[in-house]
Amino acid sequence: MFSPEIIKYAIDLVAVLLLALGIKGLSKVRSAREANRLAALAMGLAILGVLFNASFQDGIALSALLWIISGTLVGGLLGIFVAHRVPMTAMPEVVALFNGCGGMSSLLVAIGVALFPVASTSEALNVSLVENISIVVSVFVGAITFSGSIVAMAKLQGWLSTPNWIQSKFRHVINLGLGVLALVAVFDISRGGLDGLWLLVVSSVLLGIGVTLSIGGADMPVVISLLNSYSGIAAAAAGFVVGSQLLIVAGAMVGAAGLILTQVMCKGMNRSLVSVLFGGAIGQDLGSSANQGAEYTNITSCSAEECALTLEAAERVVIVPGYGLAVAQAQHTLREVTRLLEVAGIVVDYAIHPVAGRMPGHMNVLLAEADVPYEQLKEMDVINPEFPATDVVLVLGANDVVNPQAKSDRSSPLYGMPVLDVKEAKTVFVIKRGMSAGYSGIKNDLFELANTSMVFGDAKKVLGDLLVELKELGVGRSV
Ligand code: NDP
Repeated sequence: MFSPEIIKYAIDLVAVLLLALGIKGLSKVRSAREANRLAALAMGLAILGVLFNASFQDGIALSALLWIISGTLVGGLLGIFVAHRVPMTAMPEVVALFNGCGGMSSLLVAIGVALFPVASTSEALNVSLVENISIVVSVFVGAITFSGSIVAMAKLQGWLSTPNWIQSKFRHVINLGLGVLALVAVFDISRGGLDGLWLLVVSSVLLGIGVTLSIGGADMPVVISLLNSYSGIAAAAAGFVVGSQLLIVAGAMVGAAGLILTQVMCKGMNRSLVSVLFGGAIGQDLGSSANQGAEYTNITSCSAEECALTLEAAERVVIVPGYGLAVAQAQHTLREVTRLLEVAGIVVDYAIHPVAGRMPGHMNVLLAEADVPYEQLKEMDVINPEFPATDVVLVLGANDVVNPQAKSDRSSPLYGMPVLDVKEAKTVFVIKRGMSAGYSGIKNDLFELANTSMVFGDAKKVLGDLLVELKELGVGRSV
């Protein structure tokens, strides 16, 4: 029959294939759930493969097996608990935390192998060159990912703000100093020193904090995506450390996928990665000090009834969903409203900004929950030229992604971020609870334009009122 090693390789191969299929399936909303299950199955198989190999090949003590099983159970149950408890709007924080856990695992594995080399004859760190390099990369990237992700999570949760001193150019000197310390540590490790290992851990952890602490709120999505990629790189390096091909392949896939996502998000926000990492805080932090107090002077507001009357007369309507729609969980009510409009012969599209909401693809997921046809979701580049021919735009709990300042005001922290050109439409209704700023914390010039009317209230409540009004007007009566 097959040797345990062959069986283990077969399990690894199946796991890698499932993981690749999972990542591919995640690119479409329809297949995302199934893809997620495939990827989870791949991870489960990977654990089984390692245990199988360890028990047959190397012989594994019962106590060690119990530790591994207990760890898997505790981690798995915690994962299920968190997944059920966390609202979609808090997903970036959870992703940041998971990235941090990934980085920490790679860090601990590398430290473990460095301190207790597997080959019985070798002394600590007296291992092959490849293993040495892998340990250094795993510790360095793992530690940065761990501390950076924890800082990112704390900032997103509002537990941590950017201290003023870190905004000064002096932070580059500190970060550079930490980078030099890490290099000194690597030199020491290459000569077989154990002190270097601890120096590398401490300097890399501090470097992760130093770099992430200065990054502003509006850039956080990019940073989280980058840290996700780092966690993959750290895992791949840990794969070299423990000689696991599966971990190398899986880590490389996550690393590459994270990098591609980072690039897509940078493009979506018109930011270069260098300016995100070294440009300091933009958005939330600047905004909170400079723009939060900005007063609106010329606001027009109207009722749901007036909004319904304008909608009734429209031929083409574009919906712009944003973070507030997710908070209000108003996607199902929105779908009822748009169904009425469609039955009345009004063309309805949804304008999807790449960073609307609080995570990549947030609006796609939200609208898919309410069975909005995928073909009606239009990406920014496609919908922007269509706004001049649009009668009514309904901005639902969106703010930053429709802020014209991003195009017109060079001094704005949002300047350069591509936005939806809703102001080009004939009439714009903005549905939100008050005049609070969006994620970036800055004033929105759209709200003061002559063709904009605010409809104040919780998105679900206003949409519910709109539904009643439209029905009273007889819109879509043939339903
Ligand atoms: P914004 O965060 O700019 O604005 C959301 C608006 O929703 C607020 O102004 C708020 O105003 C309103 N709102 C909140 N609750 C409700 C409610 N119950 N009913 C109605 N309105 C509500 O959202 P956008 O989607 O326009 O922009 C996303 C922002 O988040 C961007 O700056 C992006 O960079 C950032 N970001 C994106 C991530 C991503 O990956 N997509 C991740 C992290 C951040 P009021 O309180 O007055 O109602």
